[in-house]
Amino acid sequence: MTLFASTRDASLAVGFSVALMQGLAPDGGLFVPIEFPRLTPRDFNELEELPAIAARLLTPFVGTDPLTAALPQLTARAFAWPALLQPLDEHGRLHVLELFHGPTAAFKDFGAQFLAACFASLDSPPGRQLTILVATSGDTGAAVASAFFGRPDVEVAVLFPKGLVSPAQERQLTCWGGNVRSLAVRGTFDDCQRMVKSAFADAEFKSRRLLSSANSINLGRLLPQMAYFAAASLEVWRRYGEPASFIVPSGNLGNALACLWARAAGLPVGEVVLAHNANRTVPDYLETGAWRPRPSIATLASAMDVGDPSNAERLRELYPDFGALRGAISACSVRDEEIRARISAGYERYGQIWCPHTATAADAYERLPEARRAGHRWVIVSTAHPAKFPEIVAPLIGRAVPVPQSLAKLFAQSGSCVEIAPDLGALRGALKE
Ligand SMILES: *Cc1c(COP(=O)(O)O)cnc(C)c1O
Repeated sequence: MTLFASTRDASLAVGFSVALMQGLAPDGGLFVPIEFPRLTPRDFNELEELPAIAARLLTPFVGTDPLTAALPQLTARAFAWPALLQPLDEHGRLHVLELFHGPTAAFKDFGAQFLAACFASLDSPPGRQLTILVATSGDTGAAVASAFFGRPDVEVAVLFPKGLVSPAQERQLTCWGGNVRSLAVRGTFDDCQRMVKSAFADAEFKSRRLLSSANSINLGRLLPQMAYFAAASLEVWRRYGEPASFIVPSGNLGNALACLWARAAGLPVGEVVLAHNANRTVPDYLETGAWRPRPSIATLASAMDVGDPSNAERLRELYPDFGALRGAISACSVRDEEIRARISAGYERYGQIWCPHTATAADAYERLPEARRAGHRWVIVSTAHPAKFPEIVAPLIGRAVPVPQSLAKLFAQSGSCVEIAPDLGALRGALKE
């Protein structure tokens, strides 16, 4: 059975559901698998559907945990829509993996739905309500709200920086009501994150409620994300007998890490390229060997505006040796004007409409040396639907962006939120009401 240990203390081992409830390890580290299962493509023979592939992949990770028996139901709920692998050429050398067909049209729906399904299967301690706190710069909050909406035993508080998310994202964050509170914080995303962290450290807060987090530090979001990398790599493997190489639009490194974990578990994954926007912390690190986190800067690909990626600690744990790390991944940084140009070019050349995050990965692909491009089968990971960013995308392609039904439904609902000051007292007050 796989156990999970803190990145800061290998002797602190817990099972899956404990790691999931705690979110963060007690010593402040992040939970990582102590060892990886050794799977091969043959272990997935006859499995075609995403929920079945996910259940097969996650079974050795979940081990003898209380959640094991529920795994088929959990993956059925979390993978209730497809992760479509679309070829961009007739030889199958380049693909786009569309991860945006869920309820809020971003890849984060997969992890959020899985996490919510896990919490629903675990008994919460009597008398204390579970409160999920989420700080969001846009997509996470909507995915988590959608996943937990209507659950009477769970309260969700979504903190977002007032005026700093896109209009479409704001509508997705504020359209819920019921057990979901949308809090517009007069501050930045960093303020939101700081308020959540201080709530976790606050004795009065914790005496009344059972707090948990649904950010990508939580294993319950990270582990299921391996599944679509597994399914896509198996699809390429079955068709061509070659591994798939992925280009992952990256911010906090959760999605990239899930891809690396899938490779570590034996899936046929070749190269992994991290595509960052102008927030260069990771590309600079791989170039210089010096880890220099810095304040984030605002870009068009706003869900990746991260200057101090929280999952870097997991990345360094996976590859403690810097030389090995540089052999295992590569990274590049894409500027806003290059993102814009790539959105236009993607539409002209392939008829594809890409969100700014996906365009970042597409640009990273175009920059690869010809020999690397020709030597692998590539998959550009598409993390959000372009209709979430119409004010950026539409002018670049010269037409309106079609809105998928799930988003249209959310956009049609009236929104409400409470505006609060950027401090813990204000958060406490808002949650008491
Ligand atoms: C969150 C997000 C990312 C970045 O993913 P990480 O796991 O934080 O690296 C990329 N694109 C979109 C659309 C996102 O919402």
